[in-house]
Amino acid sequence: MAHQLWIGGEFVASASEETIGVINPYTEEVIDHVAAGNAADVESAVEAAQHAFSEWRWVPAVERADYLHEVARKLREAEDALARQLTLEGGKPLVENLDEVGWTAACFDYYAEIGRHSRGRVIPSIERSQLSLVLKEAYGVVACIVPWNYPLLLMGWKVAPALAAGNSVILKPSSVTPLSALMLAQAFDHLPPGTVNILTGSGEEVGDVLVAHPHVPVIAFTGSTAVGQHIASLAAPKMKKLHLELGGKDAFIVAEDADLDVAVPGVAWAALLNNGQVCTSTERIYVHECLYTEFTALITEYVQGLQMGDPLGPATDLGPMARAGYRAKVERQVAEAVERGARVLTGGRRPPDQPTGYFYEPTVLVEVNRGMEVMCQETFGPVLPITRFVDFDQAIALANDSPYGLGANLYTHNARYVKQFYERVRAGTLWVNDPLTDNDAGPFGGFGMSGLGRELGEEGLDEFRETKHLHWDFAMEPKEWWYPYEQYNRLR
Ligand code: NAD
Repeated sequence: MAHQLWIGGEFVASASEETIGVINPYTEEVIDHVAAGNAADVESAVEAAQHAFSEWRWVPAVERADYLHEVARKLREAEDALARQLTLEGGKPLVENLDEVGWTAACFDYYAEIGRHSRGRVIPSIERSQLSLVLKEAYGVVACIVPWNYPLLLMGWKVAPALAAGNSVILKPSSVTPLSALMLAQAFDHLPPGTVNILTGSGEEVGDVLVAHPHVPVIAFTGSTAVGQHIASLAAPKMKKLHLELGGKDAFIVAEDADLDVAVPGVAWAALLNNGQVCTSTERIYVHECLYTEFTALITEYVQGLQMGDPLGPATDLGPMARAGYRAKVERQVAEAVERGARVLTGGRRPPDQPTGYFYEPTVLVEVNRGMEVMCQETFGPVLPITRFVDFDQAIALANDSPYGLGANLYTHNARYVKQFYERVRAGTLWVNDPLTDNDAGPFGGFGMSGLGRELGEEGLDEFRETKHLHWDFAMEPKEWWYPYEQYNRLR
């Protein structure tokens, strides 16, 4: 029987008869089924979430903090089972999924405390008889729509601040990774019923209905830019609050003073973590011309040494890609690049010793140019296209040569380069000498086609709070700038 939906604090059958098969990308077999929710299920979930919101919004922030810490504790308790499930449905190596569960728990702890200590503020009044306050309040029901690549973490980045701010939540996981999402019910079952609801189903049958629903005022979405644009158009008529974390095409600049013993494994890690299926994966590599030949030779040798195989295996560096279709896109982009003159230094094929599973060898490409798809469209796969630059001005221009602007990386000790990098590169997160490190207190999000809004940090809490300004005059006296007071007396 297919796994049921979690609505109002209990597992319930979907109103639809349809189910979704969940595939293990290592064996290519269907391992389980979940309900394919529909519009009637969305209606039930919204009703449950609205009811829960009417109480949750008034739970004191200090108590909400305790609830969130308890979520964190339960996530850590279920760490092994959750990580294993994530690997079985998403293909990410187990060690990385263990990290993901830990980071997700830490995010709930972080927002428990941010929520506990958050406050509005008193601002200067116009006159002495007045008090002016900036107040923050929850919106209501928040739809959290998340992708498959970091399904737990990206859930946490939304659900933790949304709950801390006093909203209730409907979580819609990707149909690639719905099983781990349903396991979260046990981490939320101490919350008042309906405060969190979990709806599995397709983007069209559940996602679109949630986005258009009149009683869902906030949509927090992480996923592709194309779906983000579609969501924005659906939400526009009701002027909903949108939070969109979308695609990327991150650049990595290796300056002439970089230490290659660090830069080679660092760039490889930034490009290949989770098979390059990270929104901030390095997808364009710019190396100073004086290091270029040595760098390309070393990184080719380095990636050839990475272990591909069973993602549950403790020594595995790279598992399969999550689905056949994602691998097919990478194959298309590499073929197009090669046709237009790019050269493959290693990879560029499925590994011959892994006939089953959606594997693709880590691929180093040189002689690429800006017109190739692999340099201008999101790849979301294990591909490292490398280009040389002659001076830092050119490196900055190349890094900015993209409509996306999620993150960017730099290896250098040169402070003048760092200053130019943070002043001129248009991206939400800039890493210098420490690629892809997240910090719960550091806001994360994109410029341009990479989205709207910021997750994490205090900014991440504000995405889920409406702002009010209260202007209060104790005196209740007429003001001299009104229409003449005598006029009023005359009328009486
Ligand atoms: P996707 O856009 O296909 O799906 C994301 C989620 O949206 C899923 O839950 C999906 O079911 C849902 N969805 C699909 N169609 C929908 C519709 N019409 N209406 C409402 N919901 C719909 O993305 P994906 O393949 O799951 O994830 C990969 C993408 O996510 C990449 O582009 C990646 O860059 C991006 N991503 C961005 C970030 C970030 O923080 N910026 C983080 C991770 C992933």
